[in-house]
Amino acid sequence: MQKTSDPACSGRIPFSFELYPPKTDADASALSTTIEHLAAVGPDFLSVTYGANGSSRRSSLDVLSRILRTTNVEAMAHLTCVGSTHDEANRLIREFLDAGVHSFLALRGDPPAGTKEGEAFLGDFGSAAELVQLIHRVQAEKSPYRESIIPGIPAARAVTPGREKVRIAVAAFPNGHPRSRSSAQDIDTLLAKQAAGANLGITQLFFHADHYLSFAQRAREAGVLFPILPGIMPVTSPARLRRIIELSGEQLPSDLSIRLEVEPTKEGQREIGIQHAVDLAGRVIAGGAPGLHLYAFNEHETVLEVLAACGLLTSPVAAPA
Ligand code: FAD
Repeated sequence: MQKTSDPACSGRIPFSFELYPPKTDADASALSTTIEHLAAVGPDFLSVTYGANGSSRRSSLDVLSRILRTTNVEAMAHLTCVGSTHDEANRLIREFLDAGVHSFLALRGDPPAGTKEGEAFLGDFGSAAELVQLIHRVQAEKSPYRESIIPGIPAARAVTPGREKVRIAVAAFPNGHPRSRSSAQDIDTLLAKQAAGANLGITQLFFHADHYLSFAQRAREAGVLFPILPGIMPVTSPARLRRIIELSGEQLPSDLSIRLEVEPTKEGQREIGIQHAVDLAGRVIAGGAPGLHLYAFNEHETVLEVLAACGLLTSPVAAPA
């Protein structure tokens, strides 16, 4: 693995990881090991995805509870609101708060299979911004002593001892949401999320540093004040690349695609995917990204190799005791 020599890609740059709920007992046991290894390197948070229409509510909550029980790392729950009534979303947020989860990635979610945008699938919520507002409202009702983290904005009140911080992240799309009418609409959506109280953006995966950097600059110029973390995924096989393109609606990166397709060995493909992620991470950090959010695919080895090659692990990666 080629270690990056870019000094901008070293030092204490915050990083976080995304996990998804396991489907089998064997996957759950492997995920426990992954969580231990990821927690050992001191991420800012571990986020856990939420199945479309609440299909993974129980298993997402189980993973989040495990993170809270077995590590000191902040656990962030992805929540979607598409198809929910207001009361259902209210109950869902309370359930997660009761389990000790206080950080959220508030999402609208995709239309259920078989429906199209514009059909009556949205339920009571038209956008993620409305979910951000509801999370704030429910948090405030349950825990009046929590304070929102709004980076770059002085707290309205001094943070008193015992006042905890609340992180409410939202999705951002450097190459535009697949259904967005214009790039201006994607920035407007972020501004609406900020007005609703979001204090962190996490991007959809992207394959070229310029796509993230120009989007982050346009967002800043338009008045988005919260940090926007670049979401980076090491793509270690052609099959994985095809699958994530299908899921995300992003354009196939032909350069990476060709290199993965022509490489005959699995080891070689893995090396290509990791090196691509290392180069991308180095470039976005050199361009001013406030940290990295790594899509871990429930495996610790690959993302830790990326961070190590970037010089972002302050201590050697050691197996937890
Ligand atoms: P919104 O902010 O409400 O909208 C996003 C964008 O969609 C807007 O910019 C707008 O341009 C466009 N848009 C929305 N509706 C329309 C419309 N009717 N017409 C035209 N344009 C429209 N999904 C899950 O189910 N579970 C997860 O755990 C999950 N995690 C994610 C994590 C990250 C970091 C990201 C980037 C996405 C994730 N998603 C997840 C996918 C997400 O739910 C979808 O991308 C969804 O379509 C939009 O959600 P949003 O919160 O961005 O919606």
